[in-house]
Amino acid sequence: MEDAVFYTVTPCDLAGHLFRVSMTLPAPSPDGQLFMLPAWIPGSYLIREFARNIVQIHASSAGKAVPLEKRDKHTWQAAPASEPLTLEYDVYAWDLSVRGAHLDKTHGFFNGSSLFLRAASLEHLPHRVEICPPADPACAGWRVATALPEESAPRHGFGIYRASGYDELIDHPVEMGTFALATFEAGGIPHEVAVTGRVPNLDMDRLVSDLSRICTAHIGFFEPVSKKPPMARYVFLVTAVGNGYGGLEHRASTALLCSRNDLPVLGRPLPEEPPAAPDEAYQNFLGLCSHEYFHAWNVKRIRPAAFSPCDLQNENYTRLLWLFEGFTSYYDDLMLVRSGLLDVNAYLRCISRAINNVKRGTGRKKQSVAESSFDAWIKFYRQDENATNAIVNYYTKGSLVALALDLTIRIRTNNERSLDDGMRLLWQRYGKPDQSGVQQGIGETEAVPLFEEAAGLDLKDFFRRYVDGTDELQLAHLLEHFGIRESSPPGKPKASLNVRLQRAGGDCRIAAVYEWGAAHAAGLAAGDILVAIDGLRVTGEKPDAAVEKLLSRYAPGHTVTIHAFRHDELMAFEAVLAPDDTPRHHLSLSADQTPAITLARQAWLTPETARELP
Ligand code: ZN
Repeated sequence: MEDAVFYTVTPCDLAGHLFRVSMTLPAPSPDGQLFMLPAWIPGSYLIREFARNIVQIHASSAGKAVPLEKRDKHTWQAAPASEPLTLEYDVYAWDLSVRGAHLDKTHGFFNGSSLFLRAASLEHLPHRVEICPPADPACAGWRVATALPEESAPRHGFGIYRASGYDELIDHPVEMGTFALATFEAGGIPHEVAVTGRVPNLDMDRLVSDLSRICTAHIGFFEPVSKKPPMARYVFLVTAVGNGYGGLEHRASTALLCSRNDLPVLGRPLPEEPPAAPDEAYQNFLGLCSHEYFHAWNVKRIRPAAFSPCDLQNENYTRLLWLFEGFTSYYDDLMLVRSGLLDVNAYLRCISRAINNVKRGTGRKKQSVAESSFDAWIKFYRQDENATNAIVNYYTKGSLVALALDLTIRIRTNNERSLDDGMRLLWQRYGKPDQSGVQQGIGETEAVPLFEEAAGLDLKDFFRRYVDGTDELQLAHLLEHFGIRESSPPGKPKASLNVRLQRAGGDCRIAAVYEWGAAHAAGLAAGDILVAIDGLRVTGEKPDAAVEKLLSRYAPGHTVTIHAFRHDELMAFEAVLAPDDTPRHHLSLSADQTPAITLARQAWLTPETARELP
């Protein structure tokens, strides 16, 4: 038998949501082979303990049962065996997210980190997997979509797939079912998009045409014209549901969850009309695709040294997620502009939204994006009602740091250089394996000198203030150089309780209390159910509108009596209403544009192909 780890995966109980997995090792460790399932999935920084979904597990060798001992929550050890060792186990798959596994009569989806036990010390061996169809004749039309290379399986068919090692095996999610499928080429390599879920009148041609423009823009950004992208093939695995949003990046594919109404509808516009600009929902979906595709370079290949390799059983700490998630969030929408899918005004709305999101909470004054990165495992990924007052979002603030850095470099180099040069130097320096085939990750202190080198500028103060520190970004001043002005709507601020509200059944619940606002001062808390304001009932159908209507007869400074339930106890609070301080920054093109300013903005927002770095 070939020296490889061999798995089979069978959707064995669609109604019970069980995948049956078998795993055979030709030469298990003579000391008793260890097996473990990852505790987390790369790209999503939370300990998820996937092993809790293993329902039953048995080992055998040469036809005889082999004892298995559970060593910790993720780990089993088999008794020593001299012959090939086989494990057989069932995995419960009922998590319709991009991070886990899901199986029913409509489709199956899995990440390898949910299904494939890792044979300790044998990760470097080739890993092969036979993906088997369900036995149910109703599933006879099922196909397979994955970027995992085929061994003997036909393209989109059941059969044997292969990976060079465990790390590669679990980096290719697999979809099986009756998905809609389309293919296109970008940068000289084949791309596919598979859409699972009921999406009436999906305009696949429009989707393919727009994705192709996005992918071409990304490839042109990182690669010289003569070079192909680093993957042989790329697959977008899209699951459309009534209401959902999420994406996870992989080296040659991405798993995406979206709402079906995010996707384009056939027949709009009429064929003779030029394609309409994407509506906001579709634009958000394209932004998500753009984000995950950018990750094929930035995080899947350019990686923090802390992830090279990943310790899949424990938290992996890095202060650099502002670079891997924040800068990717900057380029995701920017690439839509550069590929012509977003006009300047729509792009300015995206930036305004990000500015308003970051400025909403006081968490930005307490936590830097570097600290937020490091603590992602316990804070960003485990947000509670106090998150807005305690943490900063390294995606959103990180995207604004990238914007500020890009504009700063452009201004200080008279538009000779930009953040694009920094990303390309990062790719050249850290994106490819060295002579010995080892992928060197970027060290925690190596990013600053690299961006300084690419820009030819001293940027230490910038990173000290905005990445390691919590200084407010001075974006308005930077944007002026590109003919963009920031304004807030005029008018007297309305009276407010400074809370975020949510509907809870027929009730109006406080979801978050903004620090130092009117509700905070009055002693109201997240979770309280608002009953009445000055004796008038608060209804829960549309909480924001209901409270706004009740407060419309008051001004900031007025005192009101609030009745609210905390748990099941009715309480009264005296609240001094405060001005509504929801940030409403608005960016727009300024009226007077000099030719130099227009040129600078075009250089920033117009596509350019990758240049050979000196
Ligand atoms: Zn991301």
